[in-house]
Amino acid sequence: MIALPRPSRRQKQGLLALTFVLLMAFPLVGGSQADIDIIANACAYAALALGLNIVVGFAGLLDLGYAAFFAIGAYSYGVLNSFQLQPHWSPFWQPFASLGLVAKLGIGAAATVHFTVSFWLMLPVSAAIAALFGVAFGAPTLRLKGDYLAIVTLGFGEIVPIVARNWPALTNGAAGLNGIGPPKLFGWSFGVDATPYYYVGIALVAFLLLVAWRLKASRIGRAWMAIREDAVAAQAMGIHTSRLKLIAFATGAAFAGVTGAFYIAKLQTATPDMFDLPVSIMVLVMIVLGGLGSVWGAIFGAVALEILQAWLLPALNGTTQALGQAVGSGFLRTLDLTSASELIFGIILVVMMLYRRDGLVPAARSGVTLAFEQQDAPISHGGSNMPILGLSHHLTPLAVAAPLAVAVPAVPAILSVRDLSVGFGGIRALKSLSLDVPEGGIVAVIGPNGSGKSTLFNAITGLVTPQSGRVDFAGRALIGRRPDQILALGVARTFQNIRLFPHLSVIENVLIGQHAHLRAGPFGILCNTPRTRAEERRAREFAAEILAIFGNRLVPRLEQNVSDLSYANRRRVEIARALAARPRLLLLDEPTAGMNPAESHELAGQIAAFRTLGLTILIIEHKLDVVTLLSDRVIVLDQGERLAEGTAAAVRADPAVIAAYIGRRPADV
Ligand code: ADP
Ligand code: MG
Repeated sequence: MIALPRPSRRQKQGLLALTFVLLMAFPLVGGSQADIDIIANACAYAALALGLNIVVGFAGLLDLGYAAFFAIGAYSYGVLNSFQLQPHWSPFWQPFASLGLVAKLGIGAAATVHFTVSFWLMLPVSAAIAALFGVAFGAPTLRLKGDYLAIVTLGFGEIVPIVARNWPALTNGAAGLNGIGPPKLFGWSFGVDATPYYYVGIALVAFLLLVAWRLKASRIGRAWMAIREDAVAAQAMGIHTSRLKLIAFATGAAFAGVTGAFYIAKLQTATPDMFDLPVSIMVLVMIVLGGLGSVWGAIFGAVALEILQAWLLPALNGTTQALGQAVGSGFLRTLDLTSASELIFGIILVVMMLYRRDGLVPAARSGVTLAFEQQDAPISHGGSNMPILGLSHHLTPLAVAAPLAVAVPAVPAILSVRDLSVGFGGIRALKSLSLDVPEGGIVAVIGPNGSGKSTLFNAITGLVTPQSGRVDFAGRALIGRRPDQILALGVARTFQNIRLFPHLSVIENVLIGQHAHLRAGPFGILCNTPRTRAEERRAREFAAEILAIFGNRLVPRLEQNVSDLSYANRRRVEIARALAARPRLLLLDEPTAGMNPAESHELAGQIAAFRTLGLTILIIEHKLDVVTLLSDRVIVLDQGERLAEGTAAAVRADPAVIAAYIGRRPADV
């Protein structure tokens, strides 16, 4: 595996500035028209790659028909700035003519309309039209996952060029649109000179790069990556997954749309075969080569493949053919490598998948190595030796910052479950279960494996739909709400088999927990307004504050990928992520599983301290010493029913519990 060195921030800025100067100067210092044209094409591919990277790389939605949106943007400009549509002139068109959108051709009754919508206007309009198609196509299909989505998008990618071939009135069929008007700037027409397109292409890529970059670092980008990593956990952490997938799809489509307008303005023609499947595949290979989810990787991949196609293959052709002459091989003499580019793309895809899945410019940072002292540092407790006092020192700011902790109407129980029944096919996981959790209490749920404990959590948080029964939280019915809505009401959870977002850092995971509380919209994110920046800064501070609850366990590891953490630390990050959602009710599913006794007790002390924040806790726990230490009340489940309820001591002494659970302990725990 090749390990590329990671440049520092200053090196990156220097490199960027140098590239920019070289690019600006290239046409001026006598770059040939052909080379300038190749770079302008590379810009179009880079723009496409940046867009597809949002869909596939950020949000993890495998789109095999991306060129469809490229086509839609292209034809939008082509139709609105060519002689393709020529309706009869009528006074209706007069206002459009005064705006310069159309011109009158001919005179009298034979006069027709010539569409002349400006290129500059069509750049955003093509993007918007493609985005609209993205929404229209995505809304019904984005519920599909993985392979199914790939197949449906493949179909869409086929359909659009077919429609273009078979709708001659609009597209001039297979012959393609001709006479598409070139862009004009202050009356000067770009014509067929490659140089102005070159500069527009660079500006376009620079703009889209900035957009992709800002989005990635925002709450929207983090939500996309959360969906990519684990859609169920993303939804449970408050992300409206179907809406955010749609936004990703529409944004990617908009990138392709604007690129389509640029690309065919440059060619001044558009034919359906410019948008066939190989184009979608080529853009996909570009982002795989660069590294899925990596913004620079997308550009790198696009430029590398364009260089390969436009410069390397023709040069190699010359060499192999000369070699063929020399050794008298007919095969080598006639070999045309440029026509084998699809084969080469396929080989690149296979090689990347086998040897370097992260791409050549990977998105994920390499783990920060901790110094030995940091690894082994004792847990800090804010200057106190008393764990709980130390914690409350850390925890106070959390309570102050929590807007959800407002006074509630006096309810007997913050959570009440009534006659809840959940079944999976023939299995009845919960049978008419009822229980109450008082506000501010810590209630433990214990029971043998398979007794329905996790199913209870899933039903409360909206991940499974019960057959019957009610769940009320702070006076509101939860059944029928989506998981993200339930989180927004103030119920956060952890999972028995840790569901973090593995390729994201500790701090990113905790930031995603705050998703429901962050407000930055697309405008604020793109313009990086002071308000957005302030919100991000506060969110980071809050995340760091929460992580400090666990002392030195996580603080030195903020930037590490969670997949690099120990099992116990991953559990801690998951609890921190849930706390970041500022819940009123916290559901912990076996939080100490996989921890040694010392770690379990440390965590139990920390959980007990959450109570000082006014948090109510429902905890599934197998370790009876932890249960005894923590809980006011214990509910014992067996085969989906409540077997017993009471204090830990009372439950431990209950003969029925001993028979069902404690008696079987060695086998079950
Ligand atoms: P616990 O958490 O108490 O160990 P669970 O709630 O995970 O138990 O499971 C209760 C029962 O429901 C088990 O028999 C389990 O196999 C079944 N079950 C849980 N989730 C599903 C599911 N998604 N599909 C089918 N069966 C399930
Ligand atoms: Mg379970």
